Amino acid sequence: MEDTHQPEKANAPSYVIFTDLDGTLLDPHSYTWKPAGPALALCKRLGVPVILASSKTRAEMEVLRHQMGLSTPFIPENGGAIYFPKPGVAPPPEGALDLQDTWKLSLGTPYWRLVESLKEIREELGLQIRGFSNMSLDEISRLTGLGKSACKLAIMREFDEPILVHENSPHFAAISHAAWRRGLKVVPGGRFCHLQGKNDKGQAVRILISWYKAIVYNVRTIALGDSPNDLEMLRVVDFPVLIRSQSSFVEMQKQIPAARISTHAGPEGWNHAVLDILSGLTE
Ligand SMILES: [Mg+2]
Repeated sequence: MEDTHQPEKANAPSYVIFTDLDGTLLDPHSYTWKPAGPALALCKRLGVPVILASSKTRAEMEVLRHQMGLSTPFIPENGGAIYFPKPGVAPPPEGALDLQDTWKLSLGTPYWRLVESLKEIREELGLQIRGFSNMSLDEISRLTGLGKSACKLAIMREFDEPILVHENSPHFAAISHAAWRRGLKVVPGGRFCHLQGKNDKGQAVRILISWYKAIVYNVRTIALGDSPNDLEMLRVVDFPVLIRSQSSFVEMQKQIPAARISTHAGPEGWNHAVLDILSGLTE
């Protein structure tokens, strides 16, 4: 039970782990998390909650949580919401919606508004900006490298519209500005940019840290990530860990000098970093 969360020693810190998925706990190419298996098993044994925070949808994350045996809260679509599965260790924060088997705390802008705004921005700027809502499953499958059934989970979007624009595009600034005037933002991601509300992973993580601090003594927080959309999450924890990647970690390191850099990339790096930080609890 990863969320019963009983420290083994009196006054020992109670760790809570927040983690990105793609490129961090999941291999960026094969999407496997298996190399992180030993550290995930240790978290389970020690009662350390592992909170997934991703740009993936709730539907995609449910599959991974099931495979990993997690029953902790989780953060889909770049902090668009926090889901608190039932039965939880404590009531969810105020404002959460009761959805039978889970509580949902919405933080982002609803998807229908994002799709409507994208249409307006397209007409205003005279640009053919295409989002998931304009694509067939075949096209999304080709662009993401995901199979058809995985794509069906990826299009069950609630708070984030992936759009086919690159951050180096000459139109990026105009699109960002048009989004900003509508109370939205455009966040560069791996394969896509993301049109979303002003939510981010850091805001959702702060809410969960307060939630854990209200129910657990001496909370220490760890976050692991590999991309700019993880920066806000890495800034609000005690132990930020940058997972080594091919591109962004050197630039990100400048923004978070306190971060430790994983020795390996992806889930292997995750495994080493978490075993290293938690080793104090097992001595
Ligand atoms: Mg990532």
